[in-house]
Amino acid sequence: MSESLRPTYLEVNLSQLRKNLEAIRARVAPARVMPILKANAYGHGIDGVAKYIAAFADYLGVATLEEGIHLRQIGVDKPILVMGGTLPEQIPWFLRYDLTLTASSADLLRAAGQYAFPSGQKIRAHLKVDTGMERVGVRDTDVIPFLELAASCKSVEVEGIYSHFANADSLDLSHARLQLERFQEVLRFYEWRSLPPPPLRHLSNSGGILQLPDANFDLVRPGIMFYGIYPASDLPRTVDVKPAIIWRSRVAYSKVTPPGRPVSYGSTWQAERPTRIVTVPCGYADGYFRRMSGKARVLIHGKSYPQVGRICMDQFMVDAGEEEIALGDDIVLLGEGITVHDFAEWMGTSPYEVLTSISARVPRVFVE
Ligand SMILES: *Cc1c(COP(=O)(O)O)cnc(C)c1O
Repeated sequence: MSESLRPTYLEVNLSQLRKNLEAIRARVAPARVMPILKANAYGHGIDGVAKYIAAFADYLGVATLEEGIHLRQIGVDKPILVMGGTLPEQIPWFLRYDLTLTASSADLLRAAGQYAFPSGQKIRAHLKVDTGMERVGVRDTDVIPFLELAASCKSVEVEGIYSHFANADSLDLSHARLQLERFQEVLRFYEWRSLPPPPLRHLSNSGGILQLPDANFDLVRPGIMFYGIYPASDLPRTVDVKPAIIWRSRVAYSKVTPPGRPVSYGSTWQAERPTRIVTVPCGYADGYFRRMSGKARVLIHGKSYPQVGRICMDQFMVDAGEEEIALGDDIVLLGEGITVHDFAEWMGTSPYEVLTSISARVPRVFVE
């Protein structure tokens, strides 16, 4: 176990991440699983997570080229798919670091062919079809010339073809089903041309894994569920996963504050009777959003207390009432009953943004 000098840190339980991966695998088998490690492994800390989980994963997914290169530099040797948009001039880096390109347009496919040709190497690519997200990828209605080009491109090894759901985390699955049908229609190209389809066909993110088993194909791409969090709190929990993080801190100051002495910037809150005000050494620069002021709660000695006054950049205050609380006592900000969905509600955002907002200043402590 690594230790943190700072009393505010994120404890990341690696064994729980592995259990989540295995639970997803059991649900989708024989399809394979590509845990998504983008955005600092959804805030969990990419180095610790990647080094541990690579041995158990079939494939890893990241958003940016830089994230892929970083994984290679720390010694990860599993296949890595870069899912985000790529510019043609970035292509040589895919060869250099053995990364899998998302070929999301005919131009990118041609550029990949040109870069690979002089060296005689092949660029490994997954073709990206847009079935209803209008982000990156060739629209299903325009896909045939793109697939023809891919099939004839000698210097590109087309290992996969995929698309991405816009609404698989909704209880209303009509749009997701439409996307699934469009993707199936796209794959008919290979039958019609009597060509073998690329070996890795994939579509599902967390919402799809939970709700649309027909969309498993050869591989699934769980992000938030790999981290044990359901993409929306009202979805059927068809896979049993659990969160792997506890955001911990310790009391940095404790004093009894009387009425008439407002707490924090703007003096927006004051006590009605003498009460114990505890200072937590964590603030919005750590991803403990200022927007949660007056809404958030923390656990001290296992009991829940309200955050009061404005959350500052590096500190915030808690009203602990009559409780005897001393300097150095343990505090839980997230976990042990306080959920990422609670944070999302306090913040007015999604669980995804909660996780990816826990800033780099918060040390990650990995436990097994
Ligand atoms: C982020 C992302 C995922 C993972 O999504 P979750 O909803 O977190 O499971 C999968 N595929 C693509 C293309 C993504 O960008």
